[in-house]
Amino acid sequence: MALIRDSSDIKVADGTATVRGWVQDVRNMGGISFLTLRDRHGTLQVTMPKKKIDPELFELLTKLSRETVVSITGEVKESNQTALGLELIPTSAEVLSEAAVPLPMGVIDKVNVEMDTRLNNRFMDLRKPEVKAIFELKAMMVELIEEAVRKNGFTQVYTPKISAAGAEGGAELFKVDYFGKPAYLAQSPQLYKQILMSTGLDRVFEISPAFRAEHSNTNRHVTEFISFDCEMSWIANEEEVMGMIETIIDHVLNGLKERGKKQLEILGKEITVPARPYPMLTYSECLKMVNENGLPLKEGDDLGTEGEKIIGDIMMEKGCDLYFIIEYPEEAKPFYIMEKDGTPYSFSFDLDYRGQEISSGGQREHRYDALVARMEKKGLDPEDFSFYLDAFKYGMPPHGGWGIGIERLLVKMLDLPNIREAILFPRDPSRLSP
Ligand code: ATP
Ligand code: MG
Repeated sequence: MALIRDSSDIKVADGTATVRGWVQDVRNMGGISFLTLRDRHGTLQVTMPKKKIDPELFELLTKLSRETVVSITGEVKESNQTALGLELIPTSAEVLSEAAVPLPMGVIDKVNVEMDTRLNNRFMDLRKPEVKAIFELKAMMVELIEEAVRKNGFTQVYTPKISAAGAEGGAELFKVDYFGKPAYLAQSPQLYKQILMSTGLDRVFEISPAFRAEHSNTNRHVTEFISFDCEMSWIANEEEVMGMIETIIDHVLNGLKERGKKQLEILGKEITVPARPYPMLTYSECLKMVNENGLPLKEGDDLGTEGEKIIGDIMMEKGCDLYFIIEYPEEAKPFYIMEKDGTPYSFSFDLDYRGQEISSGGQREHRYDALVARMEKKGLDPEDFSFYLDAFKYGMPPHGGWGIGIERLLVKMLDLPNIREAILFPRDPSRLSP
């Protein structure tokens, strides 16, 4: 008897198997009944010809409510009637956990269920293979990212998620009461990963939650996401940083295409791997493109959702899915980005994927005086950042890096309609549970 499925829970001995899973469906057709049993690998048909099955067992199995968890032992037979090429004729069964009726939502029903209902019942939603597949791909993605950064000499670090100061703008901070003192949830590991550049660790990465109090309901913002951050020392310019992010994304896309075949098939998606190097557009070129397409943005404005989309459409028409936007005006970028001396621009980049920002990065200002001046220019009080600035006083190498939201990357890669599809239990202004 051949093994039923790769690495499955099904144990086959002399044609006998015990399978455990959820009762997806029971169909009674008179003289014969069928039960579809689902486990993490897929489904198996349990075939019950009434005359050949113990009457009590037949009664038990045909009356099971959908999604009940059972263990069924029986004889495995080859079958050309089932997708698996096998079926199970039961000889005994045990109900491990009965599912209540009615279900909060169906697992196999074809009706379109509202996103809210799905998220309210995420444990049930995740039983759908096409939902589960997204999270299997997400896990593979993290594994591939880690492979790529380790190969390039980055050390994994963990920086605090409760902090005394934010890095990415005051309005988006979640304030917490820290034993009577004000503290904030980390918007990004920015300040800490930069501090680490003064230590000789040289290349660090972190994959961890980031919190943003974004009071807007969009399909690409959530209040908690997973940020993949890198910071690297001894760079000559921001292009070295861009080369590194490209190397990593390329490894992820190629790897998922290969390792995620089964999940991609379930989702009916294909991953395209863009040629390298990814094209670069300057901010000024982008501004011209959006202006020509009827969006009246001025020098210094953020390109915004609409601007990014216009550029994305133009780039996709040229067959470019991933591209850099470089040389943003310094005023549009945070204080830690290095200015391009004597110009209104900065050594910064965004990486956009089909019309949406997935990453921001650049060369950082490592010169103490220039950094303090930039903070003051942005209306920040250097005093509030002394823990950060101290690291720049006693020898800080030139450095740069990026932050990338891994859900944004996944969403664009799989062409999902909403970032919430890529988060198990998403958090947004109107959702704090489950
Ligand atoms: P956007 O302008 O698209 O809101 P941002 O420029 O504010 O993003 P950054 O501070 O540059 O975001 O953060 C780096 C990356 O983190 C972004 O490119 C994105 O991939 C991700 N990210 C930022 N905010 C969110 C959010 N609210 N939800 C999900 N991902 C986010
Ligand atoms: Mg950004």
